[in-house]
Amino acid sequence: MAIERTFSMIKPDATKRNLTGAITKVFEDNGLRVVASKRVWMSKREAEGFYAVHKDRPFFGELVEGMTSGPTVVQVLEGEGAILKNREIMGATNPAQAAEGTIRKQFALSIGENSVHGSDAPETAAEEIAYWFSATEIVG
Ligand code: ADP
Ligand code: MG
Repeated sequence: MAIERTFSMIKPDATKRNLTGAITKVFEDNGLRVVASKRVWMSKREAEGFYAVHKDRPFFGELVEGMTSGPTVVQVLEGEGAILKNREIMGATNPAQAAEGTIRKQFALSIGENSVHGSDAPETAAEEIAYWFSATEIVG
C-alpha cells in the first residue's frame, strides 16, 4: 500500500482532559507520523465550514458548539494506508460500538464528544488538509 496523508483532529473534549499526548502516542505506536500539527480554537464559521457536509443533520448545532468550546489540535498524519489505518485506530463514531483498544473506546465520552476526527477517503483527506494547512506547514 502507498504512503498516504490524512487529516486528524484531537477535539476539545480531549484537549480539555489533557489527552493530546496520549492520543498522539496511539498514532505513533501504530506507525503514523505527525508531519504537521497546530493548536487552534476554531471560530463558529470555521467549524460550520469544516463540517458543512453535516449541516442538515439534527446534531449539527451540538457539533459546532462542541468544536468551538475549547482548543482543537489539527494534524496531518502520514504512513502506509494512513487514511483507512487512522479510521481503524479511531474506532466507531459511537464509542459504545468502538472496538477494544481504539482511541474512541479508550477516551470518548459520547457519540458527540468522541475525542478525534479522521478523514474518511482520499478526496476528503486532501480537502481537509488544505482547509487547515498551507503546504509549507507540512514537513514530512
Ligand atoms: P465520524 O467522525 O466518525 O466520521 P460522522 O462524520 O458521521 O462521524 O459525524 C461527524 C461528527 O458529528 C462525529 O464525530 C460526532 O462528533 C458528531 N456526531 C455524529 N453523529 C452524532 C449524533 N447522532 N449525535 C451527536 N453527535 C453526532
Ligand atoms: Mg466523518
